[in-house]
Amino acid sequence: MSFDLAARLAARRAEHLYRQRPLLESPQGPEVLVDGRTLLAFCSNDYLGLANHPEVVRALQDGAAHWGVGGGASHLVVGHGTPHHRLEEALAEFTGRPRALLFSTGYMANLAAVTALVGQGDSVLEDRLNHASLLDAGLLSGARFSRYLHNDPASLVGRLDKATGNTLVVTDGVFSMDGDLANLPALCAAAREKGAWVMVDDAHGFGPLGAHGGGIVEHFGLGPEDVPVLVGTLGKAFGTAGAFVAGSEELIETLIQFARPYIYTTSQPPALACATLKSLELLRTEGWRREHLTRLIARFRAGAVELGLELMDSPTPIQPLLIGASARAVEFSRLLRERGFLVGAIRPPTVPAGTARLRVTLSAAHTEEQVDCLLAALGECQALLPAEEDA
Ligand SMILES: *Cc1c(COP(=O)(O)O)cnc(C)c1O
Repeated sequence: MSFDLAARLAARRAEHLYRQRPLLESPQGPEVLVDGRTLLAFCSNDYLGLANHPEVVRALQDGAAHWGVGGGASHLVVGHGTPHHRLEEALAEFTGRPRALLFSTGYMANLAAVTALVGQGDSVLEDRLNHASLLDAGLLSGARFSRYLHNDPASLVGRLDKATGNTLVVTDGVFSMDGDLANLPALCAAAREKGAWVMVDDAHGFGPLGAHGGGIVEHFGLGPEDVPVLVGTLGKAFGTAGAFVAGSEELIETLIQFARPYIYTTSQPPALACATLKSLELLRTEGWRREHLTRLIARFRAGAVELGLELMDSPTPIQPLLIGASARAVEFSRLLRERGFLVGAIRPPTVPAGTARLRVTLSAAHTEEQVDCLLAALGECQALLPAEEDA
């Protein structure tokens, strides 16, 4: 017996699925220095341009000067600091939920919420295109795990009819690789009728969506009775790091008592919570960021249609261009990079086979001229690619 890692890696390469990490040598922003070259980036999740905002940076610096660096311990021991607590209160107020609980990453928040709420004898029903952390959480929970067709309330109802025990319906708010919105009004109505709870992971909705950046629940006007478990992450539009679960007093206390990914980990650095308090303030009050982003999205979509590129059904800053074959997506991305543009080629298993795509993301930090330059480059690269072959 042996681990033939070399063969596994070679197979990955042969399938055009090998992944490499671009080395970022500058802060986040529209212009980045990557592997020694200045590129215009259209692939980060820094949708509002807050990741390198001077006031957020200063809040982190001041926070470190006051609170030091390390969290020091888990929240239940001696790691739950005043900045963490204040941020939780601010996030509860922001989401209109009685309480919020802070986590170090979105991956952990999702593992925590699902595994604390359902177990053996229960059911967890998930959209097939949910984020990997939600799918992993469902598997880890030990509950009966079933995936319904993407964004399809009828398919969900079929699964709800067969569900046993406490039933949790779990969906992305904005689907991370497609950019489309979960049809929450219909999904929530179906769940409520069967007495199931809905958990929404709105990692990509908080910030860009809703009049005050309150994400998909603000967009659709849904309250805690529709979405009892609301998850947000802080590493995307908030521009910092971490995540939160918002909900009832009982939900949050249940997580504190029973969620292993909450209990058995060190709290995030308190200065990070100071930075997020500042970015939350900017996210809520600087509506111009959302308005500018909305204009960029419309401009990009109009230009892409003119070029005959295949857009997806997305009203969000995630604007993937469907390519199909992985090799073609990789080549498209390479040609763009030659011209000074960084756009990731997203391939299986992150997306279903045969649906490799260029995941273009827009940010309020981009200018209209930068979007026009991207469109011009997309047109040039498209003309250079050989005609589509089978995936
Ligand atoms: C990024 C993301 C996560 C993970 O959040 P991290 O804080 O990066 O761990 C979870 N869910 C969705 C939908 C995401 O896009």
